[in-house]
Amino acid sequence: MAGTRILTGGCACGQLTFETHGEPKRVGLCHCMTCRKISGAAFNAFVIYPVEQVTITGETKGWSATPDSERCFCPVCGSQVFDRDVRASDPKVDTTFGINPMLSSSGGASSDADPEGHVSENRDHFSLARPAGSARCASDEIEIKLGAFDDPNLFTPTYEAWTKRREHWLCTPDLKSFPENRGEVA
Ligand SMILES: [Zn+2]
Ligand SMILES: [Zn+2]
Repeated sequence: MAGTRILTGGCACGQLTFETHGEPKRVGLCHCMTCRKISGAAFNAFVIYPVEQVTITGETKGWSATPDSERCFCPVCGSQVFDRDVRASDPKVDTTFGINPMLSSSGGASSDADPEGHVSENRDHFSLARPAGSARCASDEIEIKLGAFDDPNLFTPTYEAWTKRREHWLCTPDLKSFPENRGEVA
């Protein structure tokens, strides 16, 4: 809450930009197959903010590996910029955030049965702490790609998920590790 740090970032071509206000909730890495495939990189480094602390400007396209999240990228240059939870919300991408959208209930339970497949591996980037039985409550979190910020060395990850997919040459000794999805991280 203290000093409001304002940070900026965006896609490679500059069409899609964002501004973050204040501190993130957590910073992590994910080695899951979905993150690998969609980025073409060995892992995904991301910064999780409350959605109301982030403003997005520009056109986005999204792809959903699961019904509850959408990975948003710039339609011009293809850069991945952010992921958002679309559980029980309108799947259309708004061009601005900053106000929690009114969510309609749907509550369809997804069945991602394949634990080894791409589909089920991206479901735990957002908060697990969702009120039980609250189908209309999408996560209030948004995941910004760490590499999309305008400056390096703004964040230090504290945990990593899906380490069972981690490249053997990667050395991340100080991170709290989860073999698959993240448990609760404070
Ligand atoms: Zn772009
Ligand atoms: Zn992942």
